[in-house]
Amino acid sequence: MSTDHSENPTIFGKILRGEIPCKKVYEDAEVLAFHDIKPMAEVHFLIIPKKFIPTLAHTTAEDSALLGKMLALVPVLAREQGLGDGFRTAINTGKLGGQDVYHLHIHVFGNRTGGTPLRVMSGAD
Ligand code: AMP
Repeated sequence: MSTDHSENPTIFGKILRGEIPCKKVYEDAEVLAFHDIKPMAEVHFLIIPKKFIPTLAHTTAEDSALLGKMLALVPVLAREQGLGDGFRTAINTGKLGGQDVYHLHIHVFGNRTGGTPLRVMSGAD
């Protein structure tokens, strides 16, 4: 697995290079998770691969294990962050998918204190 982030032009590349800080949730050799700077819920963090992959649409069969690992981390980290009663996940993909940062990331967000369950994002109606 490459840890050379020099070809990653995104803000998440800067985080991976240590050029800007993040509030880390989890890190290993392949994956980094950190709190979103503009949380959409009480808890909102992002899971990113260290490998530079711009979008979910850029993944290939070679990335299957990495994608599986990232997804398997979701409930583990969500529980650790106090979201044992539920959470939402989202992967925005491409221009029409509402993606702003072109480094693959899984959003995980939810409310520890209950309240109204989170619904699927509107926009299609
Ligand atoms: P997306 O629209 O799916 O590309 O989401 C990008 C997310 O990255 C947004 O929720 C931003 O708030 C978040 N974000 C952007 N810059 C930072 C940063 N420096 N640290 C943490 N989260 C960030």
